[in-house]
Amino acid sequence: MVVAQQKELPLIVGAGPVGLAAALFLARGGVRVRIVERRSHPSVESRALAVNPRTMEILEPTGVTEKMLERGVRIHGGQFRFGSKHSGEISFDGIHPRYPFMLALSQAVTEKLLEEALEAAGGRVERNVELTSCRNETGCVEVVLRGNEEPAELRSAANYGAEPSSEYLAAERSSAGSTESYVCPWMLGADGAHSRARETVGLSFDGSSVDREWYLADVPLETSLDEERAQIWFLDDGGFVFCIRVVADKREESAGPKLWRVIANLPNPISLLPDSKQAGPPVWESKFKVAHRIAERLQKGRVFLAGDAAHIHSPIGARGMNLGIEDAWVFSQLVSRGEMDRYDLLRRPVDEKVVRSIRRLTWMARGESAGSRFIRTHIAPHLLEVQSFRESAIRIGTGLDHPIGI
Ligand SMILES: Cc1cc2nc3c(=O)[nH]c(=O)nc-3n(C[C@H](O)[C@H](O)[C@H](O)COP(=O)(O)OP(=O)(O)OC[C@H]3O[C@@H](n4cnc5c(N)ncnc54)[C@H](O)[C@@H]3O)c2cc1C
Repeated sequence: MVVAQQKELPLIVGAGPVGLAAALFLARGGVRVRIVERRSHPSVESRALAVNPRTMEILEPTGVTEKMLERGVRIHGGQFRFGSKHSGEISFDGIHPRYPFMLALSQAVTEKLLEEALEAAGGRVERNVELTSCRNETGCVEVVLRGNEEPAELRSAANYGAEPSSEYLAAERSSAGSTESYVCPWMLGADGAHSRARETVGLSFDGSSVDREWYLADVPLETSLDEERAQIWFLDDGGFVFCIRVVADKREESAGPKLWRVIANLPNPISLLPDSKQAGPPVWESKFKVAHRIAERLQKGRVFLAGDAAHIHSPIGARGMNLGIEDAWVFSQLVSRGEMDRYDLLRRPVDEKVVRSIRRLTWMARGESAGSRFIRTHIAPHLLEVQSFRESAIRIGTGLDHPIGI
């Protein structure tokens, strides 16, 4: 079934943190939009754990920052071990007048708070709606959306691993087949790294990926590690381990072992932890490959890209979600001023510079070449003592490496 409609509301595709933030900033600025999401339910994954001062600053007027602060744990700096010989420390003291710290908070909670704020501002996410294609026409975008409604029976069968019945498959086919043709004045693709918006308007996503897999575990630990510091270990033979607290709501945490995120570019990351004992099964384990890519442009006609749809990089530096929320803020300001056509010019150089810095840091952290291992073990510990270098590294890690003027 194809339903052709002429509508006026602009469209945001994807209700991850970036799409939600864009819809929220726009709603608060009096701009009504439609926001669609292909998944049936909010995300439960902890993915982005570190919220940076820039994000706290731009979300402050929405009331979301205050709620984040009530729930998250403040990370005041980082502790490094460079092989077995050297160690070092950085402190975030004084980096920001109100937020001189990073905030450890699960991405699922950040998304929930953004969605609640969006609803309070009069917006609503339409779930089970997927963008299948979009096309620039004169002064507007023609979009095809598909309903992905799962029948209730299907959901319960899937939950219990049962074989679906034939009625149930028929119901799935009829609801999943409904499509809608929608015409809107502009569209923001915030639909993640495999963006359909980017693909169907024909924008390339240039860059490279790292061959070796990275490993992640969110696991309860008995440990003497300082929970208010990120922990970074560069191992003698190459490889790294990164460790930070996983927090959904500090007010509800029990007194026992706390949950930590361990990321390494070697298998069995938990076995690589010093001073720590695993206190239960991991609540999330994953393997992934990192890539550093940026879209050739962030605007084509009336289609715009933000967040992972526009740029991806390794989780080192904790920038992905934070940078995407900043894209959303800049975009919304330009919409309010009627200056959307400045978006690519203003934003792409900033995003490109961040992807470049993170790619360099990731090369060093991976320690897969003799050169990078030498820098990590023998040069980095001394550079960290040099104030200008230390301050520049802190600015990259906290998202304060560029002004946010528009
Ligand atoms: C292990 C790990 C750790 C990380 N740590 C950090 C960190 O500490 N700090 C940080 O800033 N970042 C971090 N990141 C990166 C962060 O998770 C991403 O940058 C962030 O999720 C990007 O948000 P987004 O909204 O652009 O995309 P996504 O979160 O991918 O959201 C896109 C949304 O669009 C929906 N969608 C996709 N296609 C369609 C379609 N065709 N139609 C409708 N909807 C669609 C998806 O279902 C999804 O909900 C980490 C990532 C990983 C994997």
